Amino acid sequence: MLHFNKLLLILSAPLLLLSCAQQRMRAIVAESRTVVLDIGHYYHPERGGQGARTPDSRYGKIEECEFWYQYTKYTKKVIEDAGYQCIVCNRGSEPSHKKLAAASRETGVFHVNTPEPNAIYRSAQHPHRMAVGMLSTNFALEQNPAAVVYLHHNSHSDDWQVYNKGGIYCNEVGGPLGFAVANVINQEVYEKFLPNNGVPCEVILRTDGRRGGGDWLNACNESYVPAIITEATFLSNPEHARSLSRKENAIRYAEAVGRGVVNYLQQREQE
Ligand SMILES: [Zn+2]
Repeated sequence: MLHFNKLLLILSAPLLLLSCAQQRMRAIVAESRTVVLDIGHYYHPERGGQGARTPDSRYGKIEECEFWYQYTKYTKKVIEDAGYQCIVCNRGSEPSHKKLAAASRETGVFHVNTPEPNAIYRSAQHPHRMAVGMLSTNFALEQNPAAVVYLHHNSHSDDWQVYNKGGIYCNEVGGPLGFAVANVINQEVYEKFLPNNGVPCEVILRTDGRRGGGDWLNACNESYVPAIITEATFLSNPEHARSLSRKENAIRYAEAVGRGVVNYLQQREQE
């Protein structure tokens, strides 16, 4: 007859194994000093950046992928100056636009090999997760990162409209990272050089894989990697577009995101 304790041991063996693997994954994240920044969307050789854009050029002409090709180097510098490694990627190939190509090389953007930038791909680490842009997440997780930041802007409508409900989307393990970045945006960005009608930047947990970027966040979560998508700015908001069209403000915004990430990493080390 099988002894009850023995039975319990046999039943719990797979659980113990799983928990060891989980602990190892968590330890890798906790010890990592690498941040991956993913420039959102991709650059099409003829049509340009394929992300959200301003409705027209009345208050400034910005497209989010092109914006981040120009300004991610400032986010990266803040992270590197604080003593962390920063790797930048994008799922498109190098922009055909000369100035953006130069910015890409200066930033050291790693172009993730994506045969069809707009096709749905499976997560290499968590194959039940699928999404457009998943190859960037695969690349990011291969770096054993402490955090992954998906650099985006938002757009609320195809026409100009003042809309202020911006936020930082995060995965379950990314709450503290989300709050660290949102805090910097609230203290140093909103109302300082980016008018937002007094509405604070929120932190929004996203677990719905069907919604934009949801499964990037989920795949990172299953590797215990804090991940966020920056959606605190609206290119369809004339006040945001006007502000971010000024180079000095764009740099300030990119740096603020970097400071938020650094604040998170430093808090984490104190715990
Ligand atoms: Zn976007």
